[in-house]
Amino acid sequence: MKSIQLQQLAKSFGETEVIRGIDVTIEAGEFFALVGPSGCGKSTMLRMIAGLESITSGTLRIDGVAANGMKPSERHLSMVFQNYALYPHMTVEKNITFGLHTKGLTKLEQRERCLQAAETLGISDYMKRKPRELSGGQRQRVALARAIVTEAPICLMDEPLSNLDAKLRAKMRSEIRQLQRKLGLTMIYVTHDQVEAMTMADRIMLLNEGEVQQVGKPLDLYNKPANTFVASFIGSPP
Ligand code: ADP
Ligand code: MG
Repeated sequence: MKSIQLQQLAKSFGETEVIRGIDVTIEAGEFFALVGPSGCGKSTMLRMIAGLESITSGTLRIDGVAANGMKPSERHLSMVFQNYALYPHMTVEKNITFGLHTKGLTKLEQRERCLQAAETLGISDYMKRKPRELSGGQRQRVALARAIVTEAPICLMDEPLSNLDAKLRAKMRSEIRQLQRKLGLTMIYVTHDQVEAMTMADRIMLLNEGEVQQVGKPLDLYNKPANTFVASFIGSPP
């Protein structure tokens, strides 16, 4: 388990400041939801933490260690994207083990880890299939298996369920939450769906136009909104 600390973290694209001085510490083992309307900067913030986007100013620490300049592979994290980002020409098994080839594991160790992750996600029967031969829900499970197989203590998810229908989304919410608890992951979970955040998270950070509106437990945002933006965002239907 690892903590993540942001101090005055900011990001500009050219003249446009899209993340404005964010201060927060995400505790080790916490399920932390990052919510806000489309375009408010959620993906940018997640990508900065992952090392996929440079940090304009401020400091990022992972488990107390300054991480601004660290390579993504040194950050002890895995990431799950909205569009799953599976390799279409590779089998499910290859997709899951792809991230392991830099870890100095033998082929047998890779296969064992892969089978275990596949079993956890209930996709053991599809190992020889290609992504196009799977349903949306099965593809999502492959993406989740690919993240957990790395055994990284931090997991970043960017709207992972937004391509699924409502029923499957509800099922996957609880599965992801169980997985996070079981593995003791430090989770940053991006969603624009406040119901998802309210039902899954230990704490929520609500962003608007790159600025933090409130950070707190779901019920605190609901019962004690810091401003009218928080009240209307948390109180409105998805
Ligand atoms: P969200 O994930 O909350 O929908 P994003 O982080 O994707 O929001 O985007 C935040 C803002 O930054 C948006 O105004 C978006 O247009 C802008 N943005 C994101 N990526 C880039 C980029 N590579 N270049 C310029 N502007 C960008
Ligand atoms: Mg986004």
